[in-house]
Amino acid sequence: MKTSDYRVVPLPSEIAETARRAARAGAPDHAVLTADSPTGYPCRHCLQWAQPGEEVILFPYQSVPPGRPYSESGPIFVHAEPCPAYAATDKYPANFRSHRVLRAYNATNDMIDAVVVENDQPEPVIAQLLENPATAYLQARSVTRGCYTMRLERK
Ligand SMILES: [Zn+2]
Repeated sequence: MKTSDYRVVPLPSEIAETARRAARAGAPDHAVLTADSPTGYPCRHCLQWAQPGEEVILFPYQSVPPGRPYSESGPIFVHAEPCPAYAATDKYPANFRSHRVLRAYNATNDMIDAVVVENDQPEPVIAQLLENPATAYLQARSVTRGCYTMRLERK
């Protein structure tokens, strides 16, 4: 199998840990919820769905850095209990092939393109967006709610 020319960047572990500490401290913008559906609570750190009964933290994540027109903060989940960071970074996560849109950003964090993934096949879209030399990185997001899923970069 051809190895990919991009890598998956899950949520940094220190951000997941900071969210867990903030939730324990009762921060009002960090809600602890119990998953009640097998595909409703994607953890951005291990890139797995939290399973019914597992606790997750819902909090705002600055997915596009501040100070620019496309700067953005939005809600994401992480497991409330420590979980391993997604490790198969040369492989698109199996859990998030469907219902995704891929956005391309340039080096100054401006969104320059966005393509909806069709037929659960993100790879051709990733290749297409990375063909543009102006693309610095991609973000995968939920096509319905728009929530940030993960970042993708050239190797
Ligand atoms: Zn997790």
